[in-house]
Amino acid sequence: MASAQSETLLIHAGTLLSAPPAPPAKEQTIVITDGKIERIENGYLSSVDTSARAGEIPRIIDLSDRFVLPGLFDGHVHLGFQSGGNPLLGFRQSDSEQALTAMIFARRTLAAGFTTVRDLASGPETMYAVRNAINTGRYMGPRILVSGPPITARGGHGDYPGLRDDVWSNIELRQSGVCWDEGSCRDAVRGLIRRGSDVIKLMATGGFSSGTGPGQQLTYEEMKAAINAAHMRDVRVTTHAYDTSAIRDAVRAGVDSVEHGLGLDREVARLMALQGTYFVPTLLGYQPLHIDPARLNQAVLAQSQSAFKTARKAGVRIAFGTDAGGAIAHGKNGHEFERMVALGMTPMEAITAATVTAAEMFGMLAESGTLEPGKRADVIAVSGNPLDDVIALTTVEFVMIGGKVAKQSGVMRPGEDWADPFAHP
Ligand SMILES: [Zn+2]
Repeated sequence: MASAQSETLLIHAGTLLSAPPAPPAKEQTIVITDGKIERIENGYLSSVDTSARAGEIPRIIDLSDRFVLPGLFDGHVHLGFQSGGNPLLGFRQSDSEQALTAMIFARRTLAAGFTTVRDLASGPETMYAVRNAINTGRYMGPRILVSGPPITARGGHGDYPGLRDDVWSNIELRQSGVCWDEGSCRDAVRGLIRRGSDVIKLMATGGFSSGTGPGQQLTYEEMKAAINAAHMRDVRVTTHAYDTSAIRDAVRAGVDSVEHGLGLDREVARLMALQGTYFVPTLLGYQPLHIDPARLNQAVLAQSQSAFKTARKAGVRIAFGTDAGGAIAHGKNGHEFERMVALGMTPMEAITAATVTAAEMFGMLAESGTLEPGKRADVIAVSGNPLDDVIALTTVEFVMIGGKVAKQSGVMRPGEDWADPFAHP
């Protein structure tokens, strides 16, 4: 049998949304060779219609009664844990143990139709290993961009305030994102790039899970130094940020995207729209599925909803992100679509946020984010029409990543045809 990599595959797509927000087309065939999309044609091609390599009979994947779209992106996950928000839980696991757990959460994320994610902080070393294992094809999972430890002020969100000094100093050494002035913030970024970070995460403000509140913790100058150090190496920077002053300073300092953004007001939104700064609203984080609505922090929830509406009105580029592993369980990512639509987005806008816009924010639009010739075959399918009701995106039945089928008829494949780099001839 030919390996999955060299196989020609035909997907018969009943409805194909290839490049949101362009409208979908009916009865299309996606021709996939070597894990990439070779072409897309009207109607259902059969094996004889194709110019597959001599003697090769292409395999047909019948999704003629399904809605087919590009694999989804989640701009904000924490695959290393599922803590319900307690960062100290991470210290009860070694990085090695966390890596093994992360493999399970990664697979669960892929099963939910998310073929590319950004891990914005897990154990200090965990995600580099997980990313390498998956991105090199040794294991089944979504493609991962890794931040590693966040850049944070001493005693700030992402550091661990309130611990004994001797415990704390050990953590500080391991985390290596803790900094205290422009020079140390710049150096912390360089250290993370040396470790292999794909993206840098700043903690511009405190956070609720660490009990450090919503106020600013990194100065404009510290953020500017960190951002410049990253940009000099072509690495993008995102920031966790709540208070308005901190969001404004981060945006002025040139940050590429803002996570959460509770204090986002009209003035900052205008600046973000002008500079092309992305906004990752993580609405589920403030309205988790498993919490009784009566017990939610209504003030924070109202802020997150108002930030979302303000950003949208100002024309800020909104990219999909959930904070999975923090406030919600891995695999539930698709529920963010419902939240976005409840706040006024059309389903098409929400899907665009999770495909084209997110791919652009990841710096990956040239290779994925749409289903077009030359791009990677990251393809998902659902029953029902998500343009009528986005809830369809919470039950993804088919997942292909890089031309390999990971999930079919709602069932994850065991992954035995994944590459075995240790195989002996
Ligand atoms: Zn987070």
